[in-house]
Amino acid sequence: MSEEKQKTLCGHIEDELQIKDPAAYKKLIQPATHFCEGCGRSAAKPENVCKPKEL
Ligand SMILES: [Zn+2]
Repeated sequence: MSEEKQKTLCGHIEDELQIKDPAAYKKLIQPATHFCEGCGRSAAKPENVCKPKEL
């Protein structure tokens, strides 16, 4: 079983992508058009967060 096919930003943050690869992390959040109602993170694409809500 793999959850890698479409990992959410929320999942990436749990894996500390923002620390391990800040450039890749910034690409995921800029330009932010959506945020996650579940955990409050912002993202460029709704599929990158677990509960997307348009900004
Ligand atoms: Zn989330």
